Amino acid sequence: MAHAYLCVGIDTECDKGAGWRCERPLSYAGILEGVAGRLQPLFRQHRAKATYLLSPEVMRDEASVEALRRLDGDHELGTHLHGEFAEPGRYEPDVTAVFQRDYAPDVERQKLVDTTDLFIRAFGHQPRSFRAGRFGIGPNTVGILESLGYVVESSVTPFMDWSSSGAPGLAFPNAPTQPYRPDPASPGDVGDADLLEVPVTIRRRWVNALPVVGAHVDPAWLRPTRSRASTLVRIAQAEIAEARARDPERPVILNAMLHNVEIVAGKSPYAATEDAACRILDNLGGLLAFARREGIPVIGLGDVPEVLAA
Ligand SMILES: [Zn+2]
Repeated sequence: MAHAYLCVGIDTECDKGAGWRCERPLSYAGILEGVAGRLQPLFRQHRAKATYLLSPEVMRDEASVEALRRLDGDHELGTHLHGEFAEPGRYEPDVTAVFQRDYAPDVERQKLVDTTDLFIRAFGHQPRSFRAGRFGIGPNTVGILESLGYVVESSVTPFMDWSSSGAPGLAFPNAPTQPYRPDPASPGDVGDADLLEVPVTIRRRWVNALPVVGAHVDPAWLRPTRSRASTLVRIAQAEIAEARARDPERPVILNAMLHNVEIVAGKSPYAATEDAACRILDNLGGLLAFARREGIPVIGLGDVPEVLAA
């Protein structure tokens, strides 16, 4: 039986608060305390590798870049685009609301170039992995990412439909839950792209199969924000079992997600208090402990192509 692996992709951005409002002036406790002080020590304790996907504003903040350069222990840095913070036409939004698929193709390309250049200037190497802000990829995203040297894309959210969040048609009803070569024009479908799509681990609930009602209940995400460790473990086990039943020889990839700002009090809508922030961190710790117990290596998103090729 093939091995299972876990990735944890962390969307890493400036401090936000209730309603996802950006703090003014922009602030970065979610990096200095969140990533450096809480997340990375937790990953190190579990001998696990985190993937921090960095939004442009983080890479423009010197103290954040310095803290990220100094992170102790294994980790991967990649990029995450909230287009408001990228050139051309960058500005400080109240709320990061844009879906990058809604930019003209050339503007989307320039914003991805700006983000990638910021990364290379800050860290001296090419980023391997990418996730769109608000999961907002479109028909041009994969081609642009390939031309910029990325090997992994991780914005596909199987079974989700973001129409009611302001993105009509942004939906992934048929996306595989295991990594695949996407169709560049329709990244939620299988195709022949060079880069690998590593979808967020999301599973349908039985209730999702019901007519009408089913469409109003979110499927189950491998996401520590609101799920206790025991629930995360059940989701992980179910995905491993189903993927192995489909193909016993192929390694199984689990892909959990969260935001850096969720684990610092008052910096996201998910955790107004220290208690709430610690609960999310504990949920994540429980998932990492499960992986360690079960001998499931926690790897970077950018490591997935090699694991699958081996
Ligand atoms: Zn984001």
